[in-house]
Amino acid sequence: MLRIDFLGSGSEGNATLIRWDQTCVLLDCGFGPRKLKARLDQAGVAPETVDAVLITHEHRDHWAGLSLLSRREALQVFITRRTAKKVSLGKKAACQQVEIQAGTAFSIGALDVLPFSISHDARDPVAYVFTLPDGARLGVAYDLGYASDKVVEALQGCEYLGLETNHDPELLRKGPYPAYLKRRIRSGQGHLSNEQSAGLLRRVASDGLRHVFGMHVSKTNNRPALALRALTAELRQLGLRTPEVTVVEQDRVLSFPPKGQLSLF
Ligand SMILES: [Zn+2]
Ligand SMILES: [Zn+2]
Repeated sequence: MLRIDFLGSGSEGNATLIRWDQTCVLLDCGFGPRKLKARLDQAGVAPETVDAVLITHEHRDHWAGLSLLSRREALQVFITRRTAKKVSLGKKAACQQVEIQAGTAFSIGALDVLPFSISHDARDPVAYVFTLPDGARLGVAYDLGYASDKVVEALQGCEYLGLETNHDPELLRKGPYPAYLKRRIRSGQGHLSNEQSAGLLRRVASDGLRHVFGMHVSKTNNRPALALRALTAELRQLGLRTPEVTVVEQDRVLSFPPKGQLSLF
């Protein structure tokens, strides 16, 4: 059975635990070791039980806590070759580094995983689609400036979607960031706005869609309510009333199914 624990998402750190029975993977681990440990504790997961870490790209908010986990020989770190050159596994690392390529699927325990390329100002950034043993798919894509046809193809028909809802264009425009940073965020190698995310959702949503998660929400240039509204409005326009929408926060662990509930959705 699928269990997802969002340990937090945003420019201060990203980490998502994805579990199916005994398989336990961490998608990015971008909180410092102490914070990552605390968030894993909150999710009720001991660091030793994490089988694998999947890294999306070399920005620190996606790998800063690797040293908490990398001392274990049994841990596998899945990463592209060019990203690995910019990421430190930690001084005492004993884990196995596994080189991956966009477009080439692999498996970790019960999960089949497909990395795919995204457009971002990093060396070889990827996002991932997980195929679960029951056939359902979970696609998670954040840190992308726009959604290419490849992204759409990878996410089309997923039952569970984690999509970047980084900023509200108006809040970004009026906000305190310097002009070069605003330009970077808006660029084709930056981050998806709420509206862009809704546009992506329009292209990939299917009748089988069960849950959409808004991710990498900027504390400065967005509000969770705006992200929620953009995604919800899009689903309504599409005539899809069943999928739920949840916005993942930076500082709070969000578990699905919520604690105490036995089966997911
Ligand atoms: Zn990021
Ligand atoms: Zn990034």
